[in-house]
Amino acid sequence: MKENIKNLTSKNIVEFIGSIFDRRGDEEYLGEPVTMGQHMLQGATLAEEAGQPDQIIVAALLHDIGHFTSEFGTFTMEDTEDRFHEDAGAQVLEKFFPKVISDCCRFHVAAKRYLCATDPEYFSKLSEASLHSLSLQGGPMSSDEISKFEENPNLEKIITVRHLDDAGKDPNLETPDFWYFAPKVQSMIEQKTGAE
Ligand code: FE
Repeated sequence: MKENIKNLTSKNIVEFIGSIFDRRGDEEYLGEPVTMGQHMLQGATLAEEAGQPDQIIVAALLHDIGHFTSEFGTFTMEDTEDRFHEDAGAQVLEKFFPKVISDCCRFHVAAKRYLCATDPEYFSKLSEASLHSLSLQGGPMSSDEISKFEENPNLEKIITVRHLDDAGKDPNLETPDFWYFAPKVQSMIEQKTGAE
């Protein structure tokens, strides 16, 4: 059940995203001991347990949706290779969600490069797969890149979601399924539609 993004609306997008979790959540998260679905659900669960606001919970839940962009029928075959999955995901999210949520997706790889350059402890705790992809992603940020990145008004939230991304790789952590979070996802969509 592929869906062209043009047919998706604020009324059916949550159901569609849920169907992606149901159908494809068991796919491998390359080099990590959890599936894609577990990874995203763990980020959301850890955010909720930490008392984070719904924006952060939903951003953590959806930050890797770009791994499934072939579902949305708007991208070329080269994109499905998941290079730049953060941009692809943000392009889908920005149509339906407040900017803070698409920013947390768009910049979650940049946030890793930022933290690697600014926080030595962070660097030492990265998973092996994450360290490996870091070099493909451009390595730690330069000082120019750091200053530019710090101009983003959503910086703090982007960093919070990055830490949840890194934490959501625990083979023993059980989580509720997507549908448990669906009302929060819908409420974030209403926040955007309400604001327009
Ligand atoms: Fe991730």
